[in-house]
Amino acid sequence: MSATKIGVLGGGQLGQMLGLAAIPLGIECVFYDPAPDAPARVAGRHISAAWSDREALAEFAASVERITFEFENVPAASLAFLAERKPVYPGVRSLELTSDRIREKEFLRSAGVPVQPFAAVTVRSELELALATVGTHGVLKTRTLGYDGKGQRVVHSADELARAWDSLDHAPCIYEAFVPFDREVSVVATRGADGEIAAYPVVENLHTQGILFRSIAPARVSDELARAAEGHARRVLEALGHVGTLALEMFVADGTLVANEVAPRVHNSGHWTIHGARTSQFENHMRAVAGLPLGDTGMAEFAAMVNLVGGLPAREEVLAIPGASLQLYGKSPRPGRKVAHIGVVAPTRAELDERLARVEGVARRVNRLSLHAEPARHA
Ligand code: AMP
Repeated sequence: MSATKIGVLGGGQLGQMLGLAAIPLGIECVFYDPAPDAPARVAGRHISAAWSDREALAEFAASVERITFEFENVPAASLAFLAERKPVYPGVRSLELTSDRIREKEFLRSAGVPVQPFAAVTVRSELELALATVGTHGVLKTRTLGYDGKGQRVVHSADELARAWDSLDHAPCIYEAFVPFDREVSVVATRGADGEIAAYPVVENLHTQGILFRSIAPARVSDELARAAEGHARRVLEALGHVGTLALEMFVADGTLVANEVAPRVHNSGHWTIHGARTSQFENHMRAVAGLPLGDTGMAEFAAMVNLVGGLPAREEVLAIPGASLQLYGKSPRPGRKVAHIGVVAPTRAELDERLARVEGVARRVNRLSLHAEPARHA
């Protein structure tokens, strides 16, 4: 039996877009998020309570048939408590293998997906071995809880590596080789409980200060590379036994793919699917979790997405651009905070480029990135 009541852990913009996609499918969402002003509250019932509140978690579990998440840092004990009460999709395995950057890279390698050299740094004495394994040009990242370029430092020498580790307060880290990439790409794909996989065309991503600035679909890569990228995403979905949508982010360097990370959920680089694909990543996620057949991931036109970070333009200005659509998250702007995105579609690549240039112009004018972000830059 397919489900009609789904609990979503986390109530950010991803939750909001999941909730909006669920409505026409006859699915009611209940969101669990400690923040009283969680953006998803407009798209379903919202339980605002601490992650450790057993009573609220039990009430949440009792009110839904299945549970999913849009926020992957739910404390393990809370997740285990919920998993005893209702099925959680994707499974706990997807979270466990992707929440720690070392475990994630080991998993990718075992699934046959190429990764760059890396080493764990937990105690100072490991810095030397890490340098020997990886080399002096690398990125030091905290093993857990990093996102949008937070908790990472690019280094070029042994001294810089030691200083970077000091500046990350000696947190358990991964030290990985810097990949001098030509492009960053990702594959967003959904797997149903029956093993069916629906993959979106590979997307090309541009980051600014560690935060995604824009995605273009399809990516400007060869068919062969696109096929290889999709193959990697399929291997990841299958090896995880994932049910739902995920994103595999990769670098393209010298015509080959190197995996960067897996997001075990709907992803920013898949937002273009709302207007650019026949079925959005959000709808396909809800279909997978509910046990419904997956939808067509094809695209009728060329598409792109640009993030609005820390500032908002006038709606009129965006909507006057042909093919542009605006998705506001209902968050108050502050530097570094993703508050909306603009989708844009066009019948030809040339028209997309023209429209996208206008959209990017608007975004560059209003975006205010975090002053504190210490991003991994293309050095
Ligand atoms: P992450 O938090 O791992 O997604 O990193 C954020 C961004 O930093 C990536 O999208 C890249 O632009 C850049 N970056 C991260 N790791 C590396 C790396 N090993 N080599 C080159 N650039 C990187």
